Amino acid sequence: MPTYRFQEVPLYAKKSVTCAGGCGKTLRRQKKFAQTLNPFNKGADGRPKTTRQIHAELSEKAKQWQVAPETCDSCFHA
Ligand SMILES: [Zn+2]
Repeated sequence: MPTYRFQEVPLYAKKSVTCAGGCGKTLRRQKKFAQTLNPFNKGADGRPKTTRQIHAELSEKAKQWQVAPETCDSCFHA
């Protein structure tokens, strides 16, 4: 088992989108976004990020990911 020196702040996001390849399939995806809470993970103000700040950033990334189009394997390889 690996040991983590720093606490990880995870965010699990899910989405359900229609395939961008045009086949009409509904694609479900899930993704984990994470950052570690550590003294070197600094925010714009030069201070270590707080759990709250990290969470806000992860939510922002998750939102962008959730609106991004997805293509199923068969359309992708077509
Ligand atoms: Zn498709």
